[in-house]
Amino acid sequence: MAFQILEKCVSCGSCEIECPNHAIYEGGTKWTMAKGTKTKGSVTLMDGTVVDADQRNPSQSFDTFYIVSSKCTECVGFHDKPQCVDACQVGACVISPLYPETMEQLLAKKGNLHGQA
Ligand code: SF4
Repeated sequence: MAFQILEKCVSCGSCEIECPNHAIYEGGTKWTMAKGTKTKGSVTLMDGTVVDADQRNPSQSFDTFYIVSSKCTECVGFHDKPQCVDACQVGACVISPLYPETMEQLLAKKGNLHGQA
């Protein structure tokens, strides 16, 4: 499952710099699949939407930082634990129930984002 950022986020930005997938964006900023990954061309997001990797997509939040589910791998393939959780001083980064994923699916997701190791 991807992580999400709760409304109690104080927008300090500590989490953004720790994410190995560049899945975290400041509120009000647009996001792309390509930024911080090797994705190119058409990409199918977790909700089934197809976007171009370089397409600048609307911000998912205007008040707090936010996490793009299709880019979050729970840090699998990079770290033993989610880096944003450790970085957050107010406990705002929590698991999202929206998209359950197995360890195998998270590893495959990491491979799709960055190429197979
Ligand atoms: Fe990024 Fe890891 Fe947090 Fe997911 S769990 S948003 S990959 S830092």
